[in-house]
Amino acid sequence: MMHGPLPDRDPFDQPYWDAARAGSLQMQRCRSCDRFYFPPSPRCAHCASTQVAWTGLSGRGRIWSWVVFQRRYFSDMPPPYTVLRVRLDEGPFLIANLVDAGDRAPTMDAPVHVVFRPAGSLVLPQFVLD
Ligand SMILES: [Zn+2]
Repeated sequence: MMHGPLPDRDPFDQPYWDAARAGSLQMQRCRSCDRFYFPPSPRCAHCASTQVAWTGLSGRGRIWSWVVFQRRYFSDMPPPYTVLRVRLDEGPFLIANLVDAGDRAPTMDAPVHVVFRPAGSLVLPQFVLD
């Protein structure tokens, strides 16, 4: 698949990428306040607890906002392409490309679900319209 620069990596995100490679969307869930958060961190983003565990999500959410790129920024990623900010059903936001939309345009609050696409050395979570 086309992709621009791959995400920067940090010491805490390996489980996220391992799960994506296995076809699962996982994020950290706090055992103290029960909430999910993203991006990965050793402490809960809501209550600062260190009692957190990688947990699977449904991969479902709704479009919160989006942008359609009309200008070429990356040689291997010709425009137009659409990047979504999705509010996942479990609460966290995830920014990712909209793929396989055909002629369908994104709309506010439209339901989407995650798919996993190889991109260089990673497998990237992306979204498709329901
Ligand atoms: Zn918490």
